[in-house]
Amino acid sequence: MLRLENIHAGYGPTTILHDISLTVEAGEVVTIVGANGAGKTTTLRTIAGLIRPTAGTITFEGEDVTRLSSHEMVDRGITLIPEGRQLFPDMTVQENLLMGAYRKAARQHKDAALQEVLSLFPRVRERLTQKAGSLSGGEQQMVAIARGMMARPKLLMFDEPSLGLAPIIVTQVFDVIETIVKTGATVLIVEQNVFHTLKAADRGYVLENGEIVLADTSDALLHNDHVRQAYLGI
Ligand code: ATP
Repeated sequence: MLRLENIHAGYGPTTILHDISLTVEAGEVVTIVGANGAGKTTTLRTIAGLIRPTAGTITFEGEDVTRLSSHEMVDRGITLIPEGRQLFPDMTVQENLLMGAYRKAARQHKDAALQEVLSLFPRVRERLTQKAGSLSGGEQQMVAIARGMMARPKLLMFDEPSLGLAPIIVTQVFDVIETIVKTGATVLIVEQNVFHTLKAADRGYVLENGEIVLADTSDALLHNDHVRQAYLGI
């Protein structure tokens, strides 16, 4: 479904990603794990069309999308749920959700999409009229995920969904991601919480200093000596 081939990207003259190649097949849950600053966010932002690669190719459903804008990527069915949730705190939960369906194609289905999303997130339904800023961190993360689903994406990308959340809430967030996967969605997650994310994913890539150093099934990565020492503290 998604293929990155030899991608180089960064900020201005600074190259952060060096020769990244990866694939995500339809229906898969794939994760990119790595330490703080490894380039995980940069990878997702590049796929989302927010950063232009300086070299390499991105293909989505057989189409070369390397040069498309972020709006065009949303239209193709790629949604990024950003790190730190980035809700509009003074708007209600419902208003925030509707922002997820702002593109023309999604707007036509926004009422149906809202009902679908609320059936997956009953807790969000209870909070619809509250200001997003008044919610707990965990609830805000659920709203951010729900907002991402309002565009009915084919590929849902999560940037550090567990960041800053208490362990019990982290478990809930991963449960929600599992529920989303059961609806047939394709998911790409970047995380520092390596254990949880490998448990949730089919396959993973390990990113270090902007390079992919390991690629394998999640089970194999969970048993890999380097992963265990560097990321699992075993
Ligand atoms: P984190 O968990 O901190 O988000 P990450 O693996 O997602 O880590 P990135 O955010 O992709 O890492 O950052 C990779 C590198 O790019 C870091 O060295 C960071 O300082 C640098 N960087 C990130 N954003 C910018 C920017 N807007 N301008 C310049 N450099 C940046």
